[in-house]
Amino acid sequence: MAGNKDFDLYRPAEEHDELRKVVRSLAEAKIAPFAAEVDEEGRFPQEALDALVAADLHAVHVPEEFGGAGADALATVIVIEEVARVCASSSLIPAVNKLGSLPVALSGSEDLKKRYLSPLAKGEGMFSYCLSEPDAGSDAAGMKTRAVRDGDYWVLNGVKRWITNAGVSEYYTVMAVTDPEKRSKGISAFVVEKGDEGVSFGAPEKKLGIKGSPTREVYLDNVRIPADRMIGAEGTGFATAMKTLDHTRVTIAAQALGIAQGALDYAKGYVRERKQFGKPIADFQGVQFMLADMAMKLEAARQLTYAAAARSERVDVDLTFFGAAAKCYASDAAMEITTDAVQLLGGYGYTRDYPVERMMRDAKITQIYEGTNQVQRIVMARNLP
Ligand SMILES: Cc1cc2nc3c(=O)[nH]c(=O)nc-3n(C[C@H](O)[C@H](O)[C@H](O)COP(=O)(O)OP(=O)(O)OC[C@H]3O[C@@H](n4cnc5c(N)ncnc54)[C@H](O)[C@@H]3O)c2cc1C
Repeated sequence: MAGNKDFDLYRPAEEHDELRKVVRSLAEAKIAPFAAEVDEEGRFPQEALDALVAADLHAVHVPEEFGGAGADALATVIVIEEVARVCASSSLIPAVNKLGSLPVALSGSEDLKKRYLSPLAKGEGMFSYCLSEPDAGSDAAGMKTRAVRDGDYWVLNGVKRWITNAGVSEYYTVMAVTDPEKRSKGISAFVVEKGDEGVSFGAPEKKLGIKGSPTREVYLDNVRIPADRMIGAEGTGFATAMKTLDHTRVTIAAQALGIAQGALDYAKGYVRERKQFGKPIADFQGVQFMLADMAMKLEAARQLTYAAAARSERVDVDLTFFGAAAKCYASDAAMEITTDAVQLLGGYGYTRDYPVERMMRDAKITQIYEGTNQVQRIVMARNLP
């Protein structure tokens, strides 16, 4: 990926504003009505997938040459942000489609790109990303999943854990050890298909939030795949996985922004309606100051996220710092803003009759996945601008 060096956007251009309007109206009409039910029942948001595919918004990052919308990194952020504003679980459709397929886009052969990015763009199958394992989370390079060469094939064995959209996705980017002597330089990346013999899935995890997005283990039991399904050269899988995260941490920041915006919008409306001491609680300065702080933190997080998106689009040298900083800052802000939204609704905010408690639960995951916020701080410290 050469990067678009002319990309100079710290705030959305007109076409990005237009895109936001389109996604917001689709999200409010076709995704929001099911968000509470999806959370309550812990079911996959099929309505969201159908609506996003119909509008070609399910994997907007796929380049036009492979039949995709060819959206830039900021446009992708805006799509995820607007979907997350109404349903965080549904926002994992465009976000994880980018996470799962970016290794192919960044490092795959032309043939692999054609074979896998085209069906993704058409909505024929989603993509998941399999890096984590039961005993290899923050220390992902300590993975044990093995790939052993056998003639024109690779044979994969191991367990991947916490895989978002596992079981629903058709395609899986799997990182596996090809040379145990070399630690991170002995890891390679592969495309595995749901239908490959020996692939199976664990039971869905029982989670605090993003309950509509299935998180399952992926079991690889003697999965024999053609050698041309390796992404890039042997031993480059970990580097590709990390490069991918530089870009996709910006999309997790986008998810955090969307969740926080949804909570702020709801709280703003509520305080105007709710009356105590004979007047709307919005009239109390103690409430106004909370809303001011929420909006200030959200806007600061948004500016950092959009600055990171511009760096992602241009593939700047300081992208690693900016991707980690945006994810860390926006997710911490989202946790604070959603917690304050619950506070502003008082006892009602603590119930599932109102959406802010779901948003608070959903916000928490953005501080954990694609590297915990402690790990983001390690990444930033190693890549100070
Ligand atoms: C809902 C969900 C969806 C996920 N989706 C995916 C996915 O699609 N694909 C995928 O590959 N993975 C996925 N993950 C995995 C996720 O990225 C990991 O959970 C995360 O990286 C943390 O790893 P861990 O859970 O093993 O925690 P651990 O690594 O065990 O960390 C436990 C605690 O120790 C801290 N810690 C660890 N090392 C250090 C250190 N050096 N310095 C300071 N603190 C440290 C951590 O910050 C954390 O607070 C998902 C996880 C969840 C919960």
